[in-house]
Amino acid sequence: MHPDLVLTNARLLDPGTGTFLPFDALAVADGRIARLGTGRELAAGAAELVDLDGAVVVPGLTDGHLHPVSGAERTAGVDLSGCADLDEVRAALAAAARELAAGQWLRGWGLDPNAFGGLPVSADSVGAVLDGVPAAIDLFDAHSMLASRRALELAGIDGPRRFEQGSAEVVCDADGRPTGLLLEDAACELVDAVAPRPDFEELCRATAEVLRRMAAAGLTGGHAMDANGQSLAVYAALEERGQLPLRLRIAPWVQPGVGPEELAALIRRQGEGGRHWRIAGAKLFMDGTIDNGTAWLERPDCHGESTGAFWPDPAEYTRVVGELHRAGVPTATHAIGDAAVRHVLDAVERAVAAHGAGGVRHRVEHVETVPDDTVARFAALGVTASMQPTHCTEYTRADHTDNWSRRLGEERAGRAFRCRDLAEAGARVVLGSDWPIAPFAPLGVMAGARHRRPARHPEQPPHLPGQALTPLQALAGYTLAPAWAAGEEDRAGRLAVGHRADLTVLAADPLSTPDAELAALPVRLTVRGGEITHRAG
Ligand SMILES: [Zn+2]
Repeated sequence: MHPDLVLTNARLLDPGTGTFLPFDALAVADGRIARLGTGRELAAGAAELVDLDGAVVVPGLTDGHLHPVSGAERTAGVDLSGCADLDEVRAALAAAARELAAGQWLRGWGLDPNAFGGLPVSADSVGAVLDGVPAAIDLFDAHSMLASRRALELAGIDGPRRFEQGSAEVVCDADGRPTGLLLEDAACELVDAVAPRPDFEELCRATAEVLRRMAAAGLTGGHAMDANGQSLAVYAALEERGQLPLRLRIAPWVQPGVGPEELAALIRRQGEGGRHWRIAGAKLFMDGTIDNGTAWLERPDCHGESTGAFWPDPAEYTRVVGELHRAGVPTATHAIGDAAVRHVLDAVERAVAAHGAGGVRHRVEHVETVPDDTVARFAALGVTASMQPTHCTEYTRADHTDNWSRRLGEERAGRAFRCRDLAEAGARVVLGSDWPIAPFAPLGVMAGARHRRPARHPEQPPHLPGQALTPLQALAGYTLAPAWAAGEEDRAGRLAVGHRADLTVLAADPLSTPDAELAALPVRLTVRGGEITHRAG
């Protein structure tokens, strides 16, 4: 055997036990782990030999929920994610507006509703800085947009609209005048349709750069939760150019109003793709977000909102999930509120009762506030909980003075992002960033899962420390759990002979690295399918 790559002087960490394997070298051939042993045994004839000098190898880290292409497009505009109040928002927008030619669009992203300090999220609250400027600003949750008056005008939005997506809304004031806030995809699309989009090459360039940074952060794979726009063509083009360093599993959206032909086409296209990307599963939405009042809760939030499902007829969602299940298509449903999560679990339960489990592994994305009896159902139904702990640590506060917590009230805010309870109840907990909603660096997300504090303010108290994952649980969330969710536990997620050579090499043991230092732990090497996709300088 002539291995393509041999790593020596390695410490090989098993994410199942948290212990090191009794080998110090790993040989890769044909994209798989071919042998484990000693450096002396394995090094002979290696095409490439890398002495890791005691660095720690973990199975390649996989982000369970991200949006590489749409994220690359969204994050092309002004970054507002660091703006803590309206003055900062206005200053950032004014600076960007000064750079624009007359009539040119301003795009922004990452706007946090907490920055409005209790004022409504509206064009009026932002004030004069956007006068005459066509501007489309994504809120941090990517489920809502703030459009300027000029943008509304160009999109022909002058009053309320009705949408097939139950929680989509052109928010209007008491006189029926749009405020600029647009909720959910269908409403945002009205403005997106008239705003200029990057051309294909620009999109490829931006996505390639994002993927390069993801590999440098230690990611070898990701579960991409949309196939929107030109995403699939971008992945194909990047792979052809040797610019696709992540292994991507892509779930296209299935939206309310989906017709039988569209559904059949999605079922048919399962498995399509290239060498390292493929269509797998379907992404659905059961609700929107707590912050926008578009989640689906058992009881209204304190504004009387978040009372409805994203599917105007939730029974239709159940029917579609049943059909996908019968066809062997795993579903991933965005469900944030307690009623939404319950409905998704009910739908899976019915599908399994009607057609048998059939090895189809469904998942719920986000699971932001749920009661005890719902927590217990995940393991029983074999449904994966796909969680983004940094949405909790970065956008909510332990003292519950943030918009998310205030809307929910004490009882439901006290059930926030129950990663630990779900893990302890036997559910598979997949971790991810939902980038561009939160930063993609996997060690940062794992750190957030472990300390439950905001990355930039480690001095703040943790939000529900009882929901913190152990270091081993957090590592499993990026290795074993995503492999299981993808039905690939026999070939991914562990360091074992025959498994894919997707490897992340860290300067030290992530399990014994203190929580507060984990995010800064250097990533020495990233390997996807035996190919080195990142090597620290
Ligand atoms: Zn998402």
